Amino acid sequence: MNIKEFKNTTDNFSKSNQLPVLFIGHGNPMNALYDNPFTRRLNVQGNAIREKHKINAVLVISAHWLTKGSFVCVSPKPETIHDFGGFPEELFQIQYPANGSPEYAKEVVNLNPAIQTSNDWGLDHGAWTVLKHLFPKHDIPVFQLSIDYYQPMQFHYDLAKELKALREKGVLIIGSGNIVHNLRMSMPYFTDEKQHFSYDWNQEFDEYIKKNIDSRDFHNLINYEKAGQAAFLSVPTMDHYAPLMYSIAMAEKDEPIVHTYEELMAGGISMRCFQIGD
Ligand code: ZN
Repeated sequence: MNIKEFKNTTDNFSKSNQLPVLFIGHGNPMNALYDNPFTRRLNVQGNAIREKHKINAVLVISAHWLTKGSFVCVSPKPETIHDFGGFPEELFQIQYPANGSPEYAKEVVNLNPAIQTSNDWGLDHGAWTVLKHLFPKHDIPVFQLSIDYYQPMQFHYDLAKELKALREKGVLIIGSGNIVHNLRMSMPYFTDEKQHFSYDWNQEFDEYIKKNIDSRDFHNLINYEKAGQAAFLSVPTMDHYAPLMYSIAMAEKDEPIVHTYEELMAGGISMRCFQIGD
């Protein structure tokens, strides 16, 4: 074996130990309690990743932790935050008692010193309603990174790129938001009978994003406003879209991206989920 061949072998070795990256459209917090095609898919996905990889920690970038500046939570025991109102008591009873990961949280700061540490968060529902199905035994440490609400998509994409090395350190990165998320337009459709209705602009924007993920035109994902009126209606505020930046920024060139779930619902919600790498 010459040196070139040897190098290729080690490249392959390190790739196979690289954890995949997920984007999860989390939707309704009630999914934490539901048993439906979306939650069952999460469960299958979580098991498949565990079978293939040793996961040292899970890092979630959730639409529901918005800050001025970027923060990583260093709490060793993150509390389950019920950051919503008007839901049944049963949902408020749910706990996701995973440990935090101060070690990997500090590694995030090592990789990008502009990120500050915080003790002032736990796991919000963008994290635990999904983790409850992905890893129901809550036996993997979990920590969150906040989204700086005052920064453009390019900033989030660039920041996430600096954290790519976490994948090789056994950290599973999950962006948790929704590609289409217009709650105001969706409110009348959150009923059992109407939840399958979708506006045309929901489908149009979701398909536009899917197409650009598949063709790897990430600049179109960063500059999503170019999609015009459909983008304007699908992303009325940046919170649920921004986690997408943290997922796509982690993709290696030519790494497979598989759409693991797709559903348009409640007028203006896309539940699209995908996995980068396997
Ligand atoms: Zn949400």
